[in-house]
Amino acid sequence: MTEKHVKVLVLGSGPAGLSAALYAARAELEPIVLTGMQLGGQAALTHTIENYPGFPEGVGGAQLGELFQKQAENFGAKVEFNMAHEVDLSQRPFTVKTDDGDYKAETLIVTTGANPNHLEIPGEVELTGRGVSYCATCDGWFFKDKRVVIVGGGDSAFEEALFITRYASSVTLIHRREEFRAGAILQNRAKEHPKMNFILDTVVTEVVGTDKLTALKLKNVKTGQESTFETDGLFIFIGHTPNSQMFKGQLEMSDLGYVLVNDKMETSVEGVYAAGEIADPHFRQVITSAGMGAAAAIQATKFLEEKETVHG
Ligand code: NAP
Repeated sequence: MTEKHVKVLVLGSGPAGLSAALYAARAELEPIVLTGMQLGGQAALTHTIENYPGFPEGVGGAQLGELFQKQAENFGAKVEFNMAHEVDLSQRPFTVKTDDGDYKAETLIVTTGANPNHLEIPGEVELTGRGVSYCATCDGWFFKDKRVVIVGGGDSAFEEALFITRYASSVTLIHRREEFRAGAILQNRAKEHPKMNFILDTVVTEVVGTDKLTALKLKNVKTGQESTFETDGLFIFIGHTPNSQMFKGQLEMSDLGYVLVNDKMETSVEGVYAAGEIADPHFRQVITSAGMGAAAAIQATKFLEEKETVHG
């Protein structure tokens, strides 16, 4: 097993990680990015990103990720398809264990993002990939001319529902309340779309099907009335849980598991920074994550310069 020594190690390759890598590379710190499971992070699974400045016609999520990666690599960042599974932040250099050996990092920038929440109802796990999905860009195509249900009332649910209207014959959005969290523009677009229907004050209580999803059991939360709704697909967009388990007991976190950072992206451990969704329960935008990543790398650069001045 090899052991690599790096000045800046970035965990995660979403907008935060690749922006951190760009800034660290331009500071000639030769950062290494460990991609994690999904190169480009969750943004790469988004079909079109319409609110990242500089792309007036919108840009594909995967395409934007590739551009971020290329730009960071142009300045000397190395992107490695590898996954960290254990860290020791008790002393510098920090140790990060992977299947391909250990890394010793002078500074660490944590951008490991978040994973989609599950409804945790009977049938959900069994029928995932057989009608149940958490990614419209990945699976939307499989529902060409089919009936699809979306669960959730936030921006993600509306954005993805509108995307699936390209394929599906009908898209029914089921939400547990009467009001939505989604922004007005998305709400209006969805409400005006001829393929979209809404069922409010309702929760899905069971996913029905043997080999594939055939129906959902629903319950109206106001009347208690139960019903069965036939559908071919169920897409669930009910928020995310930060990917922070690996840092439990080592970095300070909120009750929900978000890594706590100050306005310089510094965590509770000197030399460790966090950026993007792992540290951001509020905005979850490509632009805010990219900004946090850049800030983290600028701060890591300053930290290393100060250490060199003191010890050099
Ligand atoms: P979100 O805003 O937290 O919305 C989650 C939705 O899921 C809420 O409507 C919530 O209902 C519902 N929900 C949660 N748990 C549920 C459960 N167990 N059963 C049924 N419904 C449940 O999450 P999000 O849509 O992923 O967005 C997260 C953040 O990213 C937001 O700040 C959003 O603005 C941002 N975002 C922005 C864009 C964009 O600008 N284009 C795109 C995607 C995301 P309640 O409303 O009743 O709580």
